[in-house]
Amino acid sequence: MRSSILRYVSTRGRAPALGFCDALLAGLARDGGLYVPESWPRFSKDDIRALAGLPYHEVATRVMEPFVAGEGGLDHDTLARICRESYVRFEHAAVAPLLQLAPNLWLLELFHGPTLAFKDYAMQLLGRLFDHVLAERKSRITIVGATSGDTGSAAIEACRDRSAIEIFILHPKGRVSEVQRRQMTTVLSPNVHNIAIEGTFDDCQDLLKGLFNDGTFRDEVNLSGVNSINWARVLGQIVYYFYAAVALGAPEREIAFAVPTGNFGNIYAGFGAKQMGLPVHHLALVTNRNDILSRFLESGTLALGSVEPSLSPSMDIQVASNFERYLFEIYGRDGAALAADMEAFRRDRSLTVTKSRFEEARHFFDGARVDDDETVATIGRMYEETGEVLDPHSAVAVAGAERCRRNEAVPMVAIATAHPAKFPDAVERAVGFRPELPPSLADLLKRPERAATVANDLMALKAFVATRLAERARANDIGAEGGVSVGVGNRR
Ligand SMILES: *Cc1c(COP(=O)(O)O)cnc(C)c1O
Repeated sequence: MRSSILRYVSTRGRAPALGFCDALLAGLARDGGLYVPESWPRFSKDDIRALAGLPYHEVATRVMEPFVAGEGGLDHDTLARICRESYVRFEHAAVAPLLQLAPNLWLLELFHGPTLAFKDYAMQLLGRLFDHVLAERKSRITIVGATSGDTGSAAIEACRDRSAIEIFILHPKGRVSEVQRRQMTTVLSPNVHNIAIEGTFDDCQDLLKGLFNDGTFRDEVNLSGVNSINWARVLGQIVYYFYAAVALGAPEREIAFAVPTGNFGNIYAGFGAKQMGLPVHHLALVTNRNDILSRFLESGTLALGSVEPSLSPSMDIQVASNFERYLFEIYGRDGAALAADMEAFRRDRSLTVTKSRFEEARHFFDGARVDDDETVATIGRMYEETGEVLDPHSAVAVAGAERCRRNEAVPMVAIATAHPAKFPDAVERAVGFRPELPPSLADLLKRPERAATVANDLMALKAFVATRLAERARANDIGAEGGVSVGVGNRR
């Protein structure tokens, strides 16, 4: 580990390198690329051994520290406090417990956070990091996100009641499950603004792009994002690879992981852990029927199809934005070459990598595709064999883990990304009953909801956001010097 300042560079090579805090606030780089560390901090075997037996939040502090070291205001004690506070509301004492399913086959349960999906593990950190950095800079931001499921509720839980943040989350009216909607709309904190858009999820995403593309509006309200391209989310996800691997014997043993994949965010964090020196044997990249990434691992070609609905909706994605971060590595960190190929990909909807780059990818990744029938069958079989009720995303991981074992002696960890009660219909199909929500959410279906309905219209949305921000500024009495609309030192 080293203590010099680590800078972040864009995968397209043309945006200025930034420190951690600026990369955190920027999200997407100005040249359209994604931020990655200039070089990966390395952990020695002794560094890894020293993680054994530590509580989750201490592992988080140690793994994250070299990525933020030297940054103004994020000293060791501050980071340690943020990590500690991020995981106090998790419902399992181990935070990320491992469960054994079969000989050398394990389940890493990442659904014990406030919204029951793995996104809490990084989002809880992200909300607190934002709040801390903004307080240091005496600045405020407006976060706007669109959600078809888990991201919205995780972001709302992470940002609620944070004094420097107003958060607006768009969801397609009537098109998210009741549990997912209520996890958002029952949060009544004054800085949380739920918007039901009269349209589809794609409409919500188009509206979001429209907001970000309006430079004046973006600067006026200091717009920021929480989607999975934010570097800090990747960083927060590297932690559980270390935590699980050490529990199973790293650095003395190699460990393999099977990751249910949509946007390539979670699995890219596993690659990051390997770059840092964790002995990750290989990664199984498992998709549902939306299989652009598992097809890439068969052919070396990334070919865009259309999104098909599945039983694991959080992985119904075609353009896996974080994959660009991995491509950057197999392109030998040549941002100019990658920028040219990404432009061509957007035009042609297809990208073929060179043979040597493809072989590098195949060396570390196995691909698997698990369809809905196999998902349901896996939930049923695991319930019979182990008594464990899996959610459909976790079942995709387990089926892929079984198929992608390269070596029986290497522990294989399937990542469970959601609690079964989040997807009761699919689970009921497999096991014949509906799983119960955990105690903290038991009364979810009885709590009052609050959401505004807005037409599928960019002008109407902008007017809504502006009105809400003005109301909040008056309520907070922070409008005296030009309103919330003036952000300090945080222009993109
Ligand atoms: C977001 C999500 C995924 C996919 O994760 P990526 O980082 O996008 O690959 C898988 N399962 C669940 C439950 C999710 O919410």
